[in-house]
Amino acid sequence: MTVLLSSQNRVLLLIIGCAVLWSLESVMPLYRFRDHRLRRTLPNVGLTVLVLLTNLVLSFAAASVAGFVVSHRIGLLFLTRLPLWIEVIIGVAALDLFAYVAHVLLHKMPLAWRFHRVHHSEEEVDVTTAFRQHPGESIWRVLWQLPAIALFGLPLWLVVVYLTVSAVNAQLEHANVRLREPLDRLVRALFVTPNMHKTHHSRRQTETDSNYSNIFSLWDRVFGTYTAHVAFPTLRYGLDDLDERETQRLRGLLAMPFASHGAPLLAKGR
Ligand SMILES: [Zn+2]
Ligand SMILES: [Zn+2]
Repeated sequence: MTVLLSSQNRVLLLIIGCAVLWSLESVMPLYRFRDHRLRRTLPNVGLTVLVLLTNLVLSFAAASVAGFVVSHRIGLLFLTRLPLWIEVIIGVAALDLFAYVAHVLLHKMPLAWRFHRVHHSEEEVDVTTAFRQHPGESIWRVLWQLPAIALFGLPLWLVVVYLTVSAVNAQLEHANVRLREPLDRLVRALFVTPNMHKTHHSRRQTETDSNYSNIFSLWDRVFGTYTAHVAFPTLRYGLDDLDERETQRLRGLLAMPFASHGAPLLAKGR
């Protein structure tokens, strides 16, 4: 399975996913955006490359922790013998719970929010927004995978399975594709859907502060951060203090965590 999910194959999978969803966005768009599509997308492509490189460099950390706990039989999964498919579900759910906590903290900790607002500054969310992430946020997210791997004793291949499903789902969640609400609601019983995650990209603070889950929608329901209603006719993406074109370029996005114009948002108690 590790061979099937090699780095090259995963990148190929993401490129194919992006191409398919990019095409669907042209055929059945949720919103018709004003800006020139390719020009708007370029900074996201640049950040995607940086995210992939950052994750590649940091993959040794997950590999080291996973190798150590498996070789020493440390972790909850070693307490009892379970069928493989149950171990996979437990492992994926554990990593997803830690991803949920990491995401909530990205909003609640002022320093972390400075990095995460690069993702939320997107004014026209589409498939390329999936990896519009500052490298600083990538490091933060990897750091939160390590305790999950250590606590549950997860092998590296299971971590790779989780990251692959997570990446594909991220593309789906951000795709600017119109989905029928009844279908979205049905899938949302278990998984985070495009409509559910787009609520999290709203400029309205109460909506931004909800729907943090990554793959399983369960975490938002359990921790009381779930917003079911999606008001697409009035929903606006982005952040009020980051509309200038200069901040939306690659250089502006990379400098965003260190710029002073984040202060008003921090004062709102993120
Ligand atoms: Zn967020
Ligand atoms: Zn997002």
